[in-house]
Amino acid sequence: MKVHNFSAGPGILPQEVLQQASEACINFDNLNLSLLEISHRSKNFEKVMDEAMELTKELLMLDASYKVMFLGGGASLQFAMVPYNLLRTEGTAGYVNTGVWAAKAIKEAKNVGNTKVLASSEDSNFSYIPKGFPVPKDLDYMHITSNNTIYGTQMKKWPVAPMPIVCDMSSDILSRKVDGKQFGLIYAGAQKNMGAAGATMIAVKEELLGKTGRTMLSMLDYRQHIKAGSMYNTPPVFPIYVSLLTLRWLKKNGGVEWIEKVNQQKAACIYTEIDRNSLFKGTCEKEDRSSMNVCFVMHKPELEPEFDKLWKEANISGIRGHRDVGGYRASLYNALPLESVQVLVDVMQAFEKKFA
Ligand SMILES: *Cc1c(COP(=O)(O)O)cnc(C)c1O
Repeated sequence: MKVHNFSAGPGILPQEVLQQASEACINFDNLNLSLLEISHRSKNFEKVMDEAMELTKELLMLDASYKVMFLGGGASLQFAMVPYNLLRTEGTAGYVNTGVWAAKAIKEAKNVGNTKVLASSEDSNFSYIPKGFPVPKDLDYMHITSNNTIYGTQMKKWPVAPMPIVCDMSSDILSRKVDGKQFGLIYAGAQKNMGAAGATMIAVKEELLGKTGRTMLSMLDYRQHIKAGSMYNTPPVFPIYVSLLTLRWLKKNGGVEWIEKVNQQKAACIYTEIDRNSLFKGTCEKEDRSSMNVCFVMHKPELEPEFDKLWKEANISGIRGHRDVGGYRASLYNALPLESVQVLVDVMQAFEKKFA
C-alpha cells in the first residue's frame, strides 16, 4: 500500500535511498560488515564523508573558499554555534525573526553576545516575510531563515547586505537553485530535505572563522571540526550516509534545476486548489508562500473531522498543521512525487462536493 507522506520532518526520502540505506546496514561496500559496525576512519567511510562534502559543495555552487561539515546536534545546536564562532565579543549580530525557529536562534545568540532583531513578522503570526528594513552597517553577520517550516513562508529574494549572511536552510535546502556563495554560512538539519535525522550540514566561508576573541570549546569550534574533516569525534555515520545517497539521487535526476521545476509544479498544484476551493484558505501572504510547507485552514473548522476521514482513507499521512497555526500543513519535500499532491487535491475536491 502506497502512503502519501506529507510529514514536516523527519520527512519523506526517495524509496531507492531507503532501500540502499537498509542494504548498507547489513552489508556495506561488499565488506560483509554493516556500515554501523566499521570504523569511521576506515577508507570505506572516509569515501562517504568526502563524497557527501563534495556533492554538497557542487549542488550549492560553493567554491574552494568554503568548508563543509556534517555534525551532530541538529540545526538547534547551530543556533548556538553560529554566534559562538562568528559574533565577536565586542560585536553585534542582526537577526530577522520569521518564526519559531528564528526566535530560537535569536534566543541562543542573545546568550552568546550582542544581538539585534532587525525585523519581525510576529505581529501577524509570522504570515509574511519582512522586507525593506534598515540594516546597520557594522553587524558581524545577519541571520535569516530561508523557509519557515511551521508557518509556511519562504524567502524568494535574498537580502543584500555588506556583512556576511548566515542562513538556516533546514527545510528548503537543495529544493531550488541557490548560489551558496551569497552566504557566509549555510546550515541545515538533514532530516527535512537532505537525509536522516542526526546529521547537520554546515557550509562556511573559512576566512570568517577565528575572529571572535573568545576562548573556544573544542566541540563547538568549527575550525576544530574542519581540521578533522568532521571527524573530531565519531560523526553520525548513518545519517551522513543517508545524506550522501539523497545527494546522489538529486544529482542523478538533474540536480537543483530539475527539482526546482518539480517543486514549483507541486506547489502550484496545491495552492491553485486552496485558492479555488470554497472550503479552504491559505494562511500566508501569497508572495511569500513556501513551496515546501503549504499551510491552509478551513473556513468552517467544525468540518475538520470530516476532512480528516477523507484524507486518511486516501492513504495520506502527516498533514495535520502545527499546533501554533492549526488547520493543515502539506510538506512537499524533494522526494514527494507530484502524484501525491494530486491525490490530496482530489480529496479536497471530493470534500468540497460533499460539504460546500
Ligand atoms: C526543523 C528545523 C529546525 C530544527 O532542527 P533540529 O535538527 O531538530 O534541531 C531549525 N530550523 C528550521 C528552519 C527547521 O525547519
